[in-house]
Amino acid sequence: MRVNAEKGVFYCHSCGAAGTAIHLIKLMEGCDFADAERRAESILRERGVDVPSRSRGGYQRPGVSAQPGLRAGGRRYVPPGRR
Ligand SMILES: [Zn+2]
Repeated sequence: MRVNAEKGVFYCHSCGAAGTAIHLIKLMEGCDFADAERRAESILRERGVDVPSRSRGGYQRPGVSAQPGLRAGGRRYVPPGRR
C-alpha cells in the first residue's frame, strides 16, 4: 500500500482501495466517516497540529497541504497487515 503524506491520500496496490486519510481511518477502524473525522482530529491534536473546526457538510479540502500529523511514526497509525 502506498501513502502520499503530502497529499494526504493512500492507494492499495492489492485491492485498489484508495482515498483520503479520513477514508483510511474509516477502513482501519471500521467506523463511519464522521467518526473517522473525529479520530483524525484527535490524532492531529495529540501531535500539536492546529486543526480548524470541521465544517458541517463534509470534509472538503481540495487543496489540502501536508498533514504532518498523519505521517509515519504514528503508533496508532500503522496500517495493520499489508495485503
Ligand atoms: Zn488492500
